[in-house]
Amino acid sequence: MTMAQKQCLLRYLGYYTGAIDGVWGEGSKRATIDFQRAYMAQEDVDGIFGAATEKRILEVIATGEEPAVANNATTNTLGWWKYIRYFTRSEFRCPCGKCGGFPVEPDETLVRLADQVRDHFGAPVIVSSGVRCQAHNDELPGTAKNSYHVKGKAMDFCVQGVSGAELLAYVKQLPIHYAYQIKGSDFVHMDVN
Ligand SMILES: [Zn+2]
Ligand SMILES: [Zn+2]
Repeated sequence: MTMAQKQCLLRYLGYYTGAIDGVWGEGSKRATIDFQRAYMAQEDVDGIFGAATEKRILEVIATGEEPAVANNATTNTLGWWKYIRYFTRSEFRCPCGKCGGFPVEPDETLVRLADQVRDHFGAPVIVSSGVRCQAHNDELPGTAKNSYHVKGKAMDFCVQGVSGAELLAYVKQLPIHYAYQIKGSDFVHMDVN
């Protein structure tokens, strides 16, 4: 595996935000450490992207396994995730497979409100759409170019066992910007400013 391929995989999982240039600098090393912290044993955290790390990262990507240390990649800059009870950052990932998943970070206010909704209903929440890169957003039918999803400030979700109407009624009294029920479903779109 080349250095560029390694950077690509780290970027796909949201650990690396630098250029895919094959130059193994501080950013690549930092991303490797963050990945290892999340998915490997303590003694394997060395910042060296060797055979064991390569095997593990391919496995994680193939299975979609959740990190043991939730959201650790951004603990330093986005410490608020540790206050979120029910969601992990990866649940808000753009699913296109081309943008790395987080062209923008999910908005803190939005995720905190999602936590509140989850807590209120006491039932599992399914996030069908969180962050979207512009390209992914634009290929979805009937979506506005300036969608709040592109800013990381919107999510579409449903709560198990709760009707869309009931969910919308609750969401509407929260300090949000806008919410609506997604036509013909129990999913609700909510966004914040
Ligand atoms: Zn995308
Ligand atoms: Zn939406």
